[in-house]
Amino acid sequence: MAGEPQNDCLFCKIVTGEVPATIVRETETTVAFRDINPQAPTHILVIPKAHYENAAELAAGAPQLAADVLAETKAVADEEKLDSYRLVFNTGSGAGQTVWHAHAHVLGGRGLQWPPG
Ligand code: IMP
Repeated sequence: MAGEPQNDCLFCKIVTGEVPATIVRETETTVAFRDINPQAPTHILVIPKAHYENAAELAAGAPQLAADVLAETKAVADEEKLDSYRLVFNTGSGAGQTVWHAHAHVLGGRGLQWPPG
């Protein structure tokens, strides 16, 4: 069920500490950690602690939590001293989503091309 922890979810396991991660920030409702396969000098994922499958489900089911995630992306960018950066929410397999727990990618520290691939 949306919002409930899922036994088979990698990011739920990062929230509980069952799977280790390089955590850079944590709030009551969110966790931010370094991506294991960084695509930029700074590549940090910000997730809600509660399980929502993707950004669309998060926005529809828990709008305040979606706002918490967005606020944390700014806090991460500030801590990393990024003046330019990109936020990405891959939503659906066709867009490249591979982990089915909503997450914002914060990418920065290099020039970024547009349009993305
Ligand atoms: P997606 O493709 O938008 O779903 O992004 C999933 C991201 O999770 C990818 O960038 C992966 O590199 C990252 N990832 C997968 N497993 C781990 C992990 O155990 N720790 C940190 N990042 C991970």
